[in-house]
Amino acid sequence: MSQFLPEAIQSILPNLIQIVYLIATGFFIVGIKRLGSPATARSGNQLASFGMLMGVAITLFDQEIISFEFIVAGVIIGGLIGVIAAKKVQMTAMPEMVAIFNGFGGGASALVAWGEFARVEPALIPTDGLITTGLSILIGSITFTGSFIAFGKLKGFIGGGRIALPGQNIINLVLTFIAFGLVGWFAFDPEYQVVFWSLFGLALLIGVFTVLPIGGADMPVVISLLNSYSGIAASMAGFVLGNNLLIISGALVGAAGLILTNVMCKAMNRSLLNVLFSSFGGGDDTTGTDTDTDKSVQKTFADDVAIQCSYASRVVIVPGYGLAVAQAQHILKEVGDLLEEKGVEISYGIHPVAGRMPGHMNVLLAEADVPYDQLYDMDQINPQFKSTDVVLIIGANDVVNPAAKTSQGSPIYGMPILNVDEAKRTIVFKRSLSPGYAGIDNDLFYSDKNQMFFGDAKKSLQELSRAIQELD
Ligand code: NDP
Repeated sequence: MSQFLPEAIQSILPNLIQIVYLIATGFFIVGIKRLGSPATARSGNQLASFGMLMGVAITLFDQEIISFEFIVAGVIIGGLIGVIAAKKVQMTAMPEMVAIFNGFGGGASALVAWGEFARVEPALIPTDGLITTGLSILIGSITFTGSFIAFGKLKGFIGGGRIALPGQNIINLVLTFIAFGLVGWFAFDPEYQVVFWSLFGLALLIGVFTVLPIGGADMPVVISLLNSYSGIAASMAGFVLGNNLLIISGALVGAAGLILTNVMCKAMNRSLLNVLFSSFGGGDDTTGTDTDTDKSVQKTFADDVAIQCSYASRVVIVPGYGLAVAQAQHILKEVGDLLEEKGVEISYGIHPVAGRMPGHMNVLLAEADVPYDQLYDMDQINPQFKSTDVVLIIGANDVVNPAAKTSQGSPIYGMPILNVDEAKRTIVFKRSLSPGYAGIDNDLFYSDKNQMFFGDAKKSLQELSRAIQELD
């Protein structure tokens, strides 16, 4: 495309391209920074998308581009698929969508490396170029198959439990060593095609073998890790192409994914090794059987909850995964608004791993236009429970389970939780006494200060909204 430009511009084009790449990188960095708060996340996303558009557009002017028509067609088709997928996806299915996107990202990086290797005479590629090509194939292919296995587990196409050969962890370790050996061999002797294809095949197999043994319930952490891998693969592909924008944006994704993985592991009080090499929780966590217990719970109904909340001065709402399942965010906001009109102070307490992906609850509540200043992180809300009259726990379970503080043998022992038990009254909205993701009973349900409002969260909140309005 550059041949259509005036000669003066053509002479400075290489420098111009690098400057635009640098500006696009700036957009990515500011975009990621703004994703740090719900108030700025939307504009952060838009800025990063604009940076991406700049990157694609300026690449059209790169001398090396053979056919820009293909790029334009790719942008249109890919963009269309992206828009339709993002509009259609349910909030509960967001982790599946991220898994697919990661898989495509990793696969694309591997294909770019393969394409470049096929295009250039191997003997002309310097050793560092061959190493990054090998690494891009390795990491990109692992990400590709690993992500699709993760998608299958989340969707329930593949069993959620541990599916593994005997000694699977050792097998995986040995295969990984062999794969790195093949990268070295490939860099040493790129003409020998068997090595290249063995590396490709082995990497695809490692992706399958690594993710298959991990329990379905741990998939969000794995997806976050695979997200980081897809960034590293992209960065490697950037080295292969000599494209600074790809190197930097890939590194940003790689680092962000790793930080996120770390945050999630910390919030669950588990190490990454524990997530990767042991199984935790069940597969499908929303349909567990009722807990067999002699302990009794106090049941409550909409009219009673309406009275308790309307005469409270402070109500804290704690959302959890069940809110997303019930798609009850809009009616929850309506209930919050009705109580506010009655002079009740409303806040939302959000645990870092409430739901099934980081930020799940923030996104859900933002969708319902809950004001950002009513959203409180765990550390901000915890000191406030002592002075709270009523806590409404909507489809949350593990994140308010006191076993995390008291029961040493519990799988969630040590996980920081929302200290709702310190409030004067708690009311749990859920369908049964079934356990949550961690598969354990919750003593909060049986506390004297707690009441259970059984039923689907959306339906219960609709009843509550009606009852509050009838109090007027
Ligand atoms: P939990 O899985 O602990 O509990 C969710 C509860 O929602 C269930 O007990 C279920 O009970 C209830 N529920 C399901 N559907 C409905 C419905 N339609 N109406 C009302 N209630 C419903 O969720 P939390 O958010 O409390 O905790 C999140 C868990 O996920 C933590 O253990 C966390 O470690 C884990 N996790 C989170 C990740 C993240 O990034 N956020 C990543 C990985 C894991 P019932 O069936 O009785 O209705």
